Amino acid sequence: MNFHVMTLFPEMIRNGLEESITGRAMNKNIISLNTVNIRDFSQDKHLHVDDYPYGGGAGMVMQPGPIYRAFESIKAQTGKDKLRLVYLTPQGSVFNQNMAKDFAKEEDLVFLCGHYEGVDERILEMIVTDYVSIGDYVLTGGELPAMVMIDAISRMVPGVLSNDVSAEFESFSDNLLEYPQYTRPEEFMGNKVPDVLLSGHHANIDKWRREQSLLRTRKWRPDLLEKAELTKKDIEFLDKNPIS
Ligand code: SAM
Repeated sequence: MNFHVMTLFPEMIRNGLEESITGRAMNKNIISLNTVNIRDFSQDKHLHVDDYPYGGGAGMVMQPGPIYRAFESIKAQTGKDKLRLVYLTPQGSVFNQNMAKDFAKEEDLVFLCGHYEGVDERILEMIVTDYVSIGDYVLTGGELPAMVMIDAISRMVPGVLSNDVSAEFESFSDNLLEYPQYTRPEEFMGNKVPDVLLSGHHANIDKWRREQSLLRTRKWRPDLLEKAELTKKDIEFLDKNPIS
């Protein structure tokens, strides 16, 4: 999968994603990261890419021309005339795991990171296919949101995680939060790992994990539990274990 990011801060994106699991996936050519500096497409002698908002008001707005030309360069590079393009904006649909899975089906995915007060509406109308927010708060730019999305989407691309199973059972995969995890030592400052996990009895371990998932989802994310597909056994378990 090829990620293309139009940004004024390409280093920020590269530094954030060339580490750890996404970095390894790039080294293995499972994913690629193409950062495109919007400023390189300014035709202004001072390389300006923003200007005052028509109608007045605070701050600056990113101009349409440099973004249009940056996107044309990506189209030329990929040889594709139609590309899915995500504009990161607090006004978009809030990103979630299902969206990550859906975006992971694309071969090429383009991101546009806004800055200052945002981007001239005309270029957005011309090129954007998806408006996505990472949450109900306002950040200074779209770089961190693009990095968040690329990280989450990459994990859905086959081969990026060393063990594909680990993405299958984790939080949100079925609208439940993941069960608690433990590792060595068996006892830490007087706190023991639950006995069942040391028992080697796989059916009991699976049952305990499912129950823990149900309990934590009800406690921390009751909104998710409403969307989860619960079995009769799950419902009976929750009824027998009311919130104390
Ligand atoms: N004036 C804009 C508004 O009220 O909608 C906010 C502009 S914000 C200061 C600058 C840029 O940061 C935006 O163009 C967008 O790319 C990015 N941004 C800020 N918050 C975001 C969020 N929650 N999710 C995604 N992108 C965000």
